[in-house]
Amino acid sequence: MSAVTAAQAAYIVAALLFVLSLAGLSKHETSRNGVAFGIAGMTIALVATIGLASRSISAMGVALLAIALLVGGGLGIWRARVVEMTGMPELIAVMHSFVGLAAVLVGWNGYLEHNEMTGALLRIHHGEVFIGVFIGAVTFTGSIVAYLKLSARIKSAPLMLPGRNVLNLGALVAFAVLTVFFVVRPNVWLLTAVTVLALALGWHLVASIGGGDMPVVVSMLNSYSGWAAAASGFLLNNNLLIVTGALVGSSGAYLSYIMCQAMNRSFISVIAGGFGVEAATGGDEDLGEHRETNAEEVAELLRNATSVVITPGYGMAVAQAQYPIAELTRILRAHGVEVRFGIHPVAGRLPGHMNVLLAEAHVPYDIVLEMDEINDDLADTSVVLVIGANDTVNPAAADPGSPIAGMPVLRVWEAANVVVFKRSMATGYAGVQNPLFFRENTQMLFGDAKQRVDDILRALAPSVGGQREPVDAVPAGAR
Ligand code: NDP
Repeated sequence: MSAVTAAQAAYIVAALLFVLSLAGLSKHETSRNGVAFGIAGMTIALVATIGLASRSISAMGVALLAIALLVGGGLGIWRARVVEMTGMPELIAVMHSFVGLAAVLVGWNGYLEHNEMTGALLRIHHGEVFIGVFIGAVTFTGSIVAYLKLSARIKSAPLMLPGRNVLNLGALVAFAVLTVFFVVRPNVWLLTAVTVLALALGWHLVASIGGGDMPVVVSMLNSYSGWAAAASGFLLNNNLLIVTGALVGSSGAYLSYIMCQAMNRSFISVIAGGFGVEAATGGDEDLGEHRETNAEEVAELLRNATSVVITPGYGMAVAQAQYPIAELTRILRAHGVEVRFGIHPVAGRLPGHMNVLLAEAHVPYDIVLEMDEINDDLADTSVVLVIGANDTVNPAAADPGSPIAGMPVLRVWEAANVVVFKRSMATGYAGVQNPLFFRENTQMLFGDAKQRVDDILRALAPSVGGQREPVDAVPAGAR
């Protein structure tokens, strides 16, 4: 068997492992296996590619490859080890930008390097170069803006340039025209023009999208990065890169579609950079006074409750409050209180963010419900604990002038009592004030969510007769 055949066989195995990985990652119970399949597939792919490449490149090339692997692998391992769960979306955005940049470089290389092609084949090659550079450059700058927004280095509010839809549409038309010219008469100026155009378009597309729609942007960039990789696969004549890119591209597109449905957004509108979304109005009105409470009062409320729903959000992740919350859940359930969790599809900063944290703290899966499963039960609930959630429980979504208008939210205000755990009256990620905080049945429990839940556990302790393990007994590594 020749080296090329062996590599192709290895690529098929790797592609199958990637498919198994995606299938595994779609369920809690199988997600670990999914990750293991992904790692195995990537290892096989890397070994096969390096093995194949090392046969046709110089010693200098091998040395450069080794250096790139060591530096890239080292950086990757270091970042993945130190990243906080709350920093994950930013890390993912940065990684998407690398895929975009790689596609741009592969495209430029494909144009500059000498090749033997002629006639129609050469024209197809130039088409691939142009499209690869375009998708890569859009992904590159779009991901950088997503990173800046997710890490709060720039405001999450949408950039509302006059005629922004015309700008986006104009850029797409210009791309189509330039592609035709480039295929007919390729030159470096056209390639430079499309690179600059795509860089500007990627920046503008993501800058135009408001904070509330960022989850869709993250999965959309995931999809773009897949298509960019597939485009590179065509240029490098690498079947595995084409298959992997297509898997990432299509699964990212499907995830974006599901998230758009969950958030009642138009898919086309979001991928077209907020196309058709008007500038939001309002937000400055006086919402009245809020009421504050303390841990002892909340403990009393919980003692007398028959049903409790906990709706976690990004603040739970920041505070790492899932461990004392799991403990509180255990104690309340042991005393006959029905406790359930209501999870909004975009709570936190990653799809499934809350589910991962609750699973980490060993909250049973069967009491963790989706928004649609719990919303109708909220009116019959004694107490809702809103732990560091804001946009996902904001009744302003019913106001047509609001930036989050139309987004389905957890209707926590329908419960008899609502306690909101947060540190201040600050707005959530979308920058929209929350009228929930000023409702008559809402009380604010200010402070770090983990500390406040610990306080409640202490306040509950005398009445539950030392039934619980002290919170300090949670293994340090699990905090
Ligand atoms: P939000 O981001 O709307 O609000 C989180 C709240 O947590 C803040 O109001 C903050 O208030 C509070 N908080 C922060 N730290 C702490 C702490 N240590 N203790 C207690 N409270 C804390 O959260 P949601 O989960 O409700 O909504 C998610 C938002 O993020 C949505 O707008 C969504 O579109 C967006 N998004 C989601 C993504 C996803 O894939 N899930 C990806 C990108 C964006 P304070 O500062 O006063 O404490």
